[in-house]
Amino acid sequence: MPKPLVVQKFGGTSVGTAERILRCARRTADLVSAGHRVVVVVSAMGQATDELIALAKQVNARPPERELDMLLATGEQVSTALFTMALEGMGVPAAGFTAHQVGIRTDGVFTKARITGVDAARVEKALAEGKACVVAGFQGVSEDQDVTTLGRGASNITAVALAAVLGAERCEILTDVDGIYTADPRVVPTARRLEKISHEEIMELASMGAQVMQTRTVELAKKHNVRLLVAASFGSGPGTLICQKEPGMEEVVVSGLVLNTDEAKVTVQAVKDEPGMASAIFEELALRHINVDIIVQNVSGATGCTDVTFIVAKTDLSKAVDCVKGLVARGLARGVAADEGIAKLSAVGLGMRTHAGVAARMFKALAQEQINIQMISTSEIKISVIIPGADGQRALKALHRAFELDGPPAGSGKPKKDSKRMKS
Ligand code: ADP
Ligand code: ASP
Ligand code: MG
Repeated sequence: MPKPLVVQKFGGTSVGTAERILRCARRTADLVSAGHRVVVVVSAMGQATDELIALAKQVNARPPERELDMLLATGEQVSTALFTMALEGMGVPAAGFTAHQVGIRTDGVFTKARITGVDAARVEKALAEGKACVVAGFQGVSEDQDVTTLGRGASNITAVALAAVLGAERCEILTDVDGIYTADPRVVPTARRLEKISHEEIMELASMGAQVMQTRTVELAKKHNVRLLVAASFGSGPGTLICQKEPGMEEVVVSGLVLNTDEAKVTVQAVKDEPGMASAIFEELALRHINVDIIVQNVSGATGCTDVTFIVAKTDLSKAVDCVKGLVARGLARGVAADEGIAKLSAVGLGMRTHAGVAARMFKALAQEQINIQMISTSEIKISVIIPGADGQRALKALHRAFELDGPPAGSGKPKKDSKRMKS
């Protein structure tokens, strides 16, 4: 029987300095001593990815995406080499690998490539030789042998993909918080750690912008039955387990809130109100791989024209505006307006399926704070509103109170039991 295999992924802050790399490597060494085979996936050190993007922009305001990926992938190569050296220095036999060496194959969509296959033979061989393997997260190789990256925060995807192909017993996402909270604990100090969260809820929270996890990571874990745990890199707390909804588990009306300030609003002005217009706009955006969130089309007035407003990531804003300008040049719309001063606030909970009045409660809490809602969007287990960016944090805290998510103040004794939350 081979020893049980664990994939440990360490985030950027956790490997941000040489001293921290040593602390993380010590954790890996302990797991190896306890009789596990270990594959480590690392992010780039600290803010390295942001710094590389800023560097690229100093030489070209719109860096070509192929070269940007080649540049960004270097961040993870640095931490991979250093982490492997740290393990070896502790007497743990180890080997570090880039995505190319491990065979993490992707499509050719630079900056947001998708994994198409993982050829795990090299890692399996090293594991069989008794080595801990360290793999560079976030990167892949396209069919044309170009270096690709998988999207921001996507070292988690690398970790889950490796856990899936290698049949790991669990995949630990080790980070600078000790689990998943009811809201970002850096913004809402009264937020509470969840003991467990369902795949569906964390996927909605992630897709609404909760930085701690990405939708694709959870999708992949769910598809391949990978046991996914989010916990602190430094510490021994239980973390949060991402799991199937348990039968008989009652559904919490709102289990988490997300504030996203990384998006912008685009308004296509005076579009002709006739068949094919929405298709013309959104096909252009899709062709350029721009993901669009909330879309609102007003009822047309006497002019026979209407405005179409939609939300995109700020990083895609200039591409989106260019697309719309193309339509304006073709006479299909009068103009375009962009607004980066917005925030999207979302509430997520499985219980919304069965409980009425959640939207009313949300809007009332915002009204009491005199916060104006610009756009609304709902799904079965989520309600999102677009509000002025300046009101974002105040709105988030108000909703956290309104949905009774606040935990006891720090130091006031035993925290409320999370298991109760999953049932109540
Ligand atoms: P890493 O660098 O380890 O990949 P990230 O910085 O990407 O970690 O994600 C962790 C951060 O996510 C935390 O520091 C926290 O501020 C933020 N975060 C946002 N929403 C939540 C949430 N609901 N629960 C926990 N952390 C959250
Ligand atoms: N270094 C990459 C980023 O900052 C990937 C990751 O950290 O997961 O987005
Ligand atoms: Mg990260």
